[in-house]
Amino acid sequence: MACTRCSQTLPAGSMAEASRFNGDLLCPRCAERERAHPDYPGKDARRAGSAPAVLYRTTCKAEELVIAIRHLAASMVTRDRSQAFAFPDGSEAALPPNGHPRVLAYASSPPRAR
Ligand SMILES: [Zn+2]
Repeated sequence: MACTRCSQTLPAGSMAEASRFNGDLLCPRCAERERAHPDYPGKDARRAGSAPAVLYRTTCKAEELVIAIRHLAASMVTRDRSQAFAFPDGSEAALPPNGHPRVLAYASSPPRAR
């Protein structure tokens, strides 16, 4: 079957997920995009109405960042008065207010380099 929203054929073995905005049957990627949307409805939300138009457009960089952060199970922390993301492997990435994002801490027991 194909995703209602992006028309991509669902990967073998993956289940379509019903949209919380409008009940569309979504591929995993479109479901992630929905969860990243600021108006994503809560658990008990009705599946009636329409989905935000941006969810039918090409994925933007901000969405990609949010989806990646969610995948990596990062939490927001403060280090040296900068905002930073802390990851489950112990690594941290800083987003300084007037600088470039950089690695603050590497994983304590890193996986072997390939
Ligand atoms: Zn899709």
